[in-house]
Amino acid sequence: MKSAIKVSVFYAARACGLFALSRRIYRHKVRILCYHGFTLHNEHQFVPGLFIEPEVFRRRLHYLQTRGYRVQRLGDAFECIRNDAIAADTVVLTIDDGFYSVFSRAVPLLREFDVPATLYLTSYYLDEDCPVFTLAVDYMFWLTRDADMPDPSRLQVSGLTLTDASGRALRDASAVCERIKTHGQSLPDNAARSALLHRLGEWLGCDYQQLKSARLLNLVSNSEMRSLSRSGIDVQLHTHRHRFPVDPALARREIDDNRAAIEPGLGHDMRHFCYPSGEWDERHWPILREQGILTATTCTSGLVDSDTAPYAMPRILDSARVSQIEFEAEVSGFCELIRHVRSRFG
Ligand SMILES: [Zn+2]
Repeated sequence: MKSAIKVSVFYAARACGLFALSRRIYRHKVRILCYHGFTLHNEHQFVPGLFIEPEVFRRRLHYLQTRGYRVQRLGDAFECIRNDAIAADTVVLTIDDGFYSVFSRAVPLLREFDVPATLYLTSYYLDEDCPVFTLAVDYMFWLTRDADMPDPSRLQVSGLTLTDASGRALRDASAVCERIKTHGQSLPDNAARSALLHRLGEWLGCDYQQLKSARLLNLVSNSEMRSLSRSGIDVQLHTHRHRFPVDPALARREIDDNRAAIEPGLGHDMRHFCYPSGEWDERHWPILREQGILTATTCTSGLVDSDTAPYAMPRILDSARVSQIEFEAEVSGFCELIRHVRSRFG
């Protein structure tokens, strides 16, 4: 459905009482909401699907509170799901990755509304004090998108080649951007990647040091993670390097390293998991079981009940890309109703 038509359908459906009807039909299904980063400056304009403005998040929490939805802890909701005893209108809040803005922007709002949330924390960047490399490269190109790309031959970095197969300088900014990301990922550590980002900033004419110190694209530090946990945020697994290969040894390593980085600071073990980038495969399930993991959430849209596979729990993705009416359509269950009708008759 085209976006404008979809939004018109949602307004009409809400006016006809179909949101209220959907909410009644699906009152004993759990709505697991999924967030990522919260805007500190302009990140929601950079990647609207990954960030949300704090005031919009506040509006969502206010909507849930005033409409009588009950926000439960993930573990408590899962107990109810397992026992087929889901309380009416249950909502679970989940936040992926662990951007610094969770600490500085989301937590004060969660406190204000007195609601629990789960943070699926990827741990590679804990205490690295630098932005997520690939995001930082994309962000700097995005910041300078309206200017002509400088001459690639002026970006002199050892081992980085910015020419095509016939030796001509790359002219397409997205090709240069991808080449820089690939080169950065081959570097041994974040210090080397930070040096590359610094050089990239000089070449593009944007201030990498400012991006780094403003922490727009940084994840939380170890001490912030402990502080989040102390303030009631339920910290759970999201792999160490934000990848989850199907190969059992590599998948096991991701979870082991994620646990080793986080659990000493938490003081308790973690039993819930979120697939990085929502990419999952049933071949992962024996590893999750062996690791004592109870649930795994995806980025597929849907609601959850006792018939849902615990290692493929769908969620409702919310971000700057989602308007308030679209949010209400999902939370009410109206979108679930549409998906159900489509799957039966589509
Ligand atoms: Zn993630």
